[in-house]
Amino acid sequence: MTASTETRTADPRLLPRVREFVSRDRQMLIGGEWTDAASGKTFTTYDPATAAPITDVAQGEATDVDRAVRAARQAFDEGPWARMKPNERERLIWRVGDILSERADEFGQLEALDNGKSAGIAAAVDTQWSADIFRYNAGLCTKITGSTVNVSMPFVPGGEFHAYTLRDPLGVCGLIVPWNFPLLMATFKLAPALAAGNTVVLKPAEQTPLTALLLGEVFEEAGFPPGVVNIVTGFGDAGAALSAHPDVDKIAFTGSTEVGKKIVAAAQGNLKKVSLELGGKSPNIVFADADFDQAVAGSVAAWMFNHGQCCVAGTRLFVERPIFDDFTAAVAEAASKAKIGPGLDPTTELGPLISQEQFDKVSGYLAQGLADGARALTGGKRWGNEGYFVEPTVFVDVDPSFSIVSEEIFGPVVAAMPFDGDDVVAAANDSIYGLAAGIWTKDLSKAHKTARAVKAGSVWVNQYNGFDTAMPFGGYKQSGWGRELGSSAIDLYTETKAVNIAL
Ligand code: NAP
Ligand code: MG
Repeated sequence: MTASTETRTADPRLLPRVREFVSRDRQMLIGGEWTDAASGKTFTTYDPATAAPITDVAQGEATDVDRAVRAARQAFDEGPWARMKPNERERLIWRVGDILSERADEFGQLEALDNGKSAGIAAAVDTQWSADIFRYNAGLCTKITGSTVNVSMPFVPGGEFHAYTLRDPLGVCGLIVPWNFPLLMATFKLAPALAAGNTVVLKPAEQTPLTALLLGEVFEEAGFPPGVVNIVTGFGDAGAALSAHPDVDKIAFTGSTEVGKKIVAAAQGNLKKVSLELGGKSPNIVFADADFDQAVAGSVAAWMFNHGQCCVAGTRLFVERPIFDDFTAAVAEAASKAKIGPGLDPTTELGPLISQEQFDKVSGYLAQGLADGARALTGGKRWGNEGYFVEPTVFVDVDPSFSIVSEEIFGPVVAAMPFDGDDVVAAANDSIYGLAAGIWTKDLSKAHKTARAVKAGSVWVNQYNGFDTAMPFGGYKQSGWGRELGSSAIDLYTETKAVNIAL
């Protein structure tokens, strides 16, 4: 145990329930029991604003994953969950949403502490939106239906048939999530998986295990039967064990494209279903006729929100040539004014990166960009001398061959490029990714034409990050497989059974 009680509870801003939560080592949730790792190992989770330890967490490994999968299998096959009516599942899942709403400040602070993001945003966006997603999916429980099919059956002349489809849950779903939106990414998967009647094993990121464990308490408080939701904290080896496990029916993953490919390989053993939400290098396209101030504000948020640690971040900023210099200067000025600090400070606009590893990675891209000949209108280096802060950085004079233009940086860094007219579509689509795109123009025809032409799963016009619970979300190309959110997320967690009865 490395963290002293003093370190864990020192911050006077902490709510009593958060202070209490981090004052003890945290165990994993398996089969309704809070438990240590079989090995007894633990790992420390850190506050990225100070690099100080927060608390220690059980380090689950393959044996713990196996225990959790067995518990989930038993709960699926034999537990009360399998026999519950849709409206009973609905009430439980709705209750999770309501408890999250009631405890949003607590979740917000804990997320801020573990991840570095603003506590206010973590409460209002990450947590309240998670609450909404649970309630939306609670409503879907009673609306998962098949259809009757009017079959022709030409090879059975004179026959009469009654044919229909059923939607079945898949069984045990492994959910592997990253650290950038720890609670929200878990919710994107948990809510539809549970609504469809599956049981789950959740593996949070090693950097941010705490809100997942607090959410485990919420499932208990809501009255979920044991084994329906299991949470195994640990490192990538735990995620690898889950994706290779022969008794897991599906893996839903959000994270890097590199690990996404490993999951596809690991899933081959039993051909489990896989859905993936991976990286991006999203284009944000500003036409000269756009509302200038609105487009500046939106384009800054596009790459700076969550300190640039967003899979959808609009980090390739395409600006039509006549306004390029003025626009990029305004973006740089707005970015340079962002208040940098820890997430627990309510005035903070830009928090720290998640870890030393991520800090080194982003710093490496900053140095490489400058070495390649890019010019930083603002930023370009570390901020302060503790924690993992970097200055928001706006690069111009860039070429598509630079790594800062083609690779996902996952920090507050944007590369701006001028364009002339229709050229922009080919440039915007010149990426291995296809997650999101922004378009800024007052010309309706231009907006619609560009929205049709960009290869991206989400297109936002005259706004950025235009997410909604009811809108499907996912990527083209190497940004992923499948669509989360919306009612079609249920498709990721169900099988279709076609029943044909000769009458
Ligand atoms: P990552 O390695 O892809 O981690 C995502 C999740 O997968 C974590 O829970 C991780 O566990 C787990 N994992 C790691 N190796 C695994 C394996 N072989 N099999 C199964 N699961 C495994 O992402 P990261 O290392 O945290 O970040 C690296 C880069 O990924 C970032 O710089 C960024 O470019 C990108 N990223 C993208 C998103 C997104 O939303 N698309 C989110 C986060 C990061 P551990 O945490 O224990 O490693
Ligand atoms: Mg990792």
